[in-house]
Amino acid sequence: MCIWTRTTGVRYKPRMSQPDMPPVAALQTNHSGHRMVLATDLDGTFLGGSDADRDALYDWLRQHSETVGLIFVTGRDPDFIGELCASGRIPWPSYVVGDVGTTIAEVTAAGEIRPIQALEEAIANLWQDRGPSVREKLHNHPGLTLQPTGFRYRVSYDMDPAHFDESAVQIVAELGADSLISDNRFFDVLPRNVSKGPSLIRLLNHLKVDPAKTLAAGDTLNDLSMLVAGTPAVAVGGAETALLDALPQAEHIYRATNIGAAGIIEAIRHFALHPVT
Ligand SMILES: [Mg+2]
Repeated sequence: MCIWTRTTGVRYKPRMSQPDMPPVAALQTNHSGHRMVLATDLDGTFLGGSDADRDALYDWLRQHSETVGLIFVTGRDPDFIGELCASGRIPWPSYVVGDVGTTIAEVTAAGEIRPIQALEEAIANLWQDRGPSVREKLHNHPGLTLQPTGFRYRVSYDMDPAHFDESAVQIVAELGADSLISDNRFFDVLPRNVSKGPSLIRLLNHLKVDPAKTLAAGDTLNDLSMLVAGTPAVAVGGAETALLDALPQAEHIYRATNIGAAGIIEAIRHFALHPVT
């Protein structure tokens, strides 16, 4: 089985052929006792960098699963994440903020990614089933191709910047939703004021995790809201220039040199969030 990575366009080969289950240590806690929590984007961040750098980070996380919590904060949907982790190479997270912040879910012992209804209620209320009207208004819109994904509280398109007609932004605003362009090739339609950052903070509050011990990691503009949400944060090496330009200069926001997974390790050292050997 191979996994298609959204940003890099490379097929990601799992290391094991047998399905893997979430480690018990990752599931027995709500993270409040963890020394640190890594809240990371996937494509270009957690899945970015060399094979050796990725495996070094994944092995380190497995070795320290009792002191380091793991949350994926991604544009991907739960099905993709389940498939990715079941391959055995990527460690299971305990929680997922998926679908560009419109899904907030826990990971069960059986490897099911189960939405936390109490946290998603506000998101569902803001969305009000706008999916059909968004699809209708943006049908055949220049430069937009609907992604082949089952959406709940968002609609996402692949964007061709050479042909994109910016009137889509106004169309979405008139529908009472937010639009978000990232990596200059994805166009997401989201409930107003819902994105990765606010949903991560909602989850951390629910888990009673101190934001000061949470490292947020990302690489494109759809990570901006989480990198400025107030936790220690890192834009990994290889990040989109538009993200780096948009990020304020602040002590708690670190721009890593190393690419993808290695940039996460670099940031854990920089902020002294956890010993790294
Ligand atoms: Mg990314």
